[in-house]
Amino acid sequence: MFDSDLGTDEGSVVRRRVFLVTSASALAGAVLWSLRRPNLVQAKPEEVTIVEFSDSGERLKTVHVPKLVKTDEEWHKQLSRGVFAITRQADTELAYSGEYWNLHEKGLYRCICCDNALFTSGTKFDSGTGWPSFWAPIARENVRTTRDASLGMVRTAVSCTECDAHLGHVFDDGPEPTGLRYCMNSASLKFVARQVTGISSK
Ligand SMILES: [Zn+2]
Repeated sequence: MFDSDLGTDEGSVVRRRVFLVTSASALAGAVLWSLRRPNLVQAKPEEVTIVEFSDSGERLKTVHVPKLVKTDEEWHKQLSRGVFAITRQADTELAYSGEYWNLHEKGLYRCICCDNALFTSGTKFDSGTGWPSFWAPIARENVRTTRDASLGMVRTAVSCTECDAHLGHVFDDGPEPTGLRYCMNSASLKFVARQVTGISSK
């Protein structure tokens, strides 16, 4: 009785096969999906810690943000060819050619790529090199240093923590109190003049 119910009906066998095939592809899809998931997770940008500053140079708060990651194509749309070569390919501008080596105005220097605050006029000094030079970053969290063995010498490269933009190099022949010289490319920076405040309508 049971035998005839289960095995002899052609239609039910075919239907069962179709069901099995469908289930198998659904299962394969699920397996593929689950295999891909970890890659998606790994592709998430690294989280970095930076200190935010207002345009007037006031230290606001320490934040954890995803690192800003863009393709070369996206950076090209945002940056001029020269700025792209310096910030994304670690090129160096010619000495005395940049916008800021001789700037003495009070203000803040942000990253040209992502607006992360990097330096202030308060630590800028005249190094005589033709590049804007600072004895300290605005916050140690906001820049990163890496070993750079290019061009037949060993130097310490400085980059933006938030977007990895190449900024320049740091040397140990700077003035007190740190003895450091952050030798930057003007092209990597965007100067924000300090707003004159204190005039109140009240
Ligand atoms: Zn940046």
